[in-house]
Amino acid sequence: MPNLSTIVAEIAAEMADAPDRGAVADYIAPLGAVDPRKFGIAVIDADGACHSAGDAEEAFSVQSVAKVFGLTLALGAGGDSVWKRVGREPSGTAFNSIVQLETERGIPRNPFLNAGAIVISDILLGNRQPAEVIAELLRFVRALAGEDGIFIDNQVAAAEQATGYRNKALANYMRAFGNLHHDVDRVLGVYFHQCALAMSCRQLALAGRYLMRSGRNPTTGHSVVSPQRARRINALMLTCGHYDGSGEFAFRVGLPAKSGVGGGILAVAPGRASIAVWSPGLNDRGNSQLGTLALERLVQRTGWSVFEG
Ligand code: GLN
Repeated sequence: MPNLSTIVAEIAAEMADAPDRGAVADYIAPLGAVDPRKFGIAVIDADGACHSAGDAEEAFSVQSVAKVFGLTLALGAGGDSVWKRVGREPSGTAFNSIVQLETERGIPRNPFLNAGAIVISDILLGNRQPAEVIAELLRFVRALAGEDGIFIDNQVAAAEQATGYRNKALANYMRAFGNLHHDVDRVLGVYFHQCALAMSCRQLALAGRYLMRSGRNPTTGHSVVSPQRARRINALMLTCGHYDGSGEFAFRVGLPAKSGVGGGILAVAPGRASIAVWSPGLNDRGNSQLGTLALERLVQRTGWSVFEG
């Protein structure tokens, strides 16, 4: 295998010229304003070395990628009881779909759908104020990455709040089934601010290190979650991390990974690397068009697919 830095630089150069970049999410103004030519990639290898290229230092809105960190915290707080309120199956539906909630009595298929992440926000909220929960999430992600520059973009959070009619509908619907235990506005306060978490590819890859080494941050040696929990989070990322595009992503890339509508993807090559890519243009399933292509090329050149022996 050629040197990892060379592979990463080659991929960034290829992406700079890619003609089909997808469509930038424009349901809120701050996301719609992002330059579609942006592309960043950062790969932290098993020795902790960071290989990055393109716009890897530029902060972007990680959006639904943050659902991984919210789930990790909720499992820490609620343990396996979390699985009484949210499932572990791919949905085959869009990230913001409400259809299955009716027949499945307010229990979302998985924690990476909006509905699932709203239940997770309810679990995290407990009897606290939304601001305390968000402060905890921010502290957690900063500690995972070892970087204080990670932040919540309050403009994004306010825009999510102002336009989040579907998320409000999902939350109210689940509350009607008894699967939200707290005030809908407070739960959504947590959810919208979680969506507004912002960081660079390098910081996101750093934050994801615990998933590549049995729940232990390979650089600091700290155990974040048990090996079993890390395996399970990775399994959910593989099966549900790209919504109704999860099968296609497994087919093309073959890594546990979570996408967000900001165009970021966090991918895990177990035992080998924590990887973050960012390109704001999305495909028709709401996943980064070039981010997916870049990861496809990375696994082709490294042999890192979990399906390769
Ligand atoms: N903020 C977005 C929403 O709730 C997050 C969705 C995503 O990144 N897929 O609609």
